[in-house]
Amino acid sequence: MNIFVTGGAGYIGSICVEQLLDRGHGVTVFDNLTEGHRLAVDPRATFAEGDLNDSQSIGPALAAAKPDAVMHFAANALVGESMTNPSKYFRNNVGGGLNLLDAMLAAGCKRFVFSSTCATFGPPERVPMDETLPQKPINPYGESKLMFEQVLKWFDTIHGLKFVALRYFNAAGATEKYGEDHRVETHLIPNILKVALGQRDHAEIYGTDYETPDGTCIRDYIHIVDLAQAHILALEAKESTFYNLGTGGGNSVAEVIECCRRVTGHAIPVVEKARRAGDPPRLIAASGKIQGALGWKPEYQSLDDIIGSAWAWHQRNPQGYGD
Ligand code: UDP
Repeated sequence: MNIFVTGGAGYIGSICVEQLLDRGHGVTVFDNLTEGHRLAVDPRATFAEGDLNDSQSIGPALAAAKPDAVMHFAANALVGESMTNPSKYFRNNVGGGLNLLDAMLAAGCKRFVFSSTCATFGPPERVPMDETLPQKPINPYGESKLMFEQVLKWFDTIHGLKFVALRYFNAAGATEKYGEDHRVETHLIPNILKVALGQRDHAEIYGTDYETPDGTCIRDYIHIVDLAQAHILALEAKESTFYNLGTGGGNSVAEVIECCRRVTGHAIPVVEKARRAGDPPRLIAASGKIQGALGWKPEYQSLDDIIGSAWAWHQRNPQGYGD
């Protein structure tokens, strides 16, 4: 198939692009490079630099690519930032997405795979979290993604646009070529690995008084290649739907730090800080729905393997993509 990938220069997008190309699909990457990196775009893909907020930019790029399907990764995705700058999140994640959908309809493309998030649920009533839980986000990031899920339902009802929304839990790990490099790094695993690389003095734990066994937040860390595989399977879906995507296992911040110590052999000093606004204590996926419907199964179940792949990439690329 011919796939148009927004945000294909970002962390998750770049690795999905690599996996699509490895399976023989054609790919056009559309990215404004504010978060993404030119060097993260696989050289086998066609690259179109542009901004989703500019319909004069996305319309012609999408029409020229003539895609069979669109994968939409381009978004702002930081819980903490969304609590201080909600406008950015609603403008880019909802408004930018609408420009993309309009461009798709104009070009006659009606197949869509959407990067959604477990943050659409807010603190869950129970874990593991399946798709039947109520969605009550507690930060503008999660709310913006939930709003776009609703937009997609209406575009299916009214325009027949078929979508699969994948609600990721915590993406982690790397492939040999592509990995996680944010200009301002806020994510747990890369920040800990920067300590092992000698680029930071210590790791920080945001909150040690949560109602979890060791008091730190629990997340479901899923390997990026397993995420990519779900996107590729989603291209075959017959009906519009939503899937939660994680391994079904949870690790606390303290456990992640301990695992990084094991994998890197570095002592990784830690400083305990206050809670970060907008963080639910425990997010763990139940992914039975996508496993049953599309036969998806995570290959990486071990946190050591996931962090090991990230560590290998960071050691090879200590300055990330260098831009
Ligand atoms: N976290 C932390 N120290 C850091 C970065 C993150 O303790 O330097 C915590 C954060 O509060 C959350 C978990 O680690 O509970 C995962 O955060 P991350 O930003 O990696 O992903 P998110 O769950 O926000 O998507």
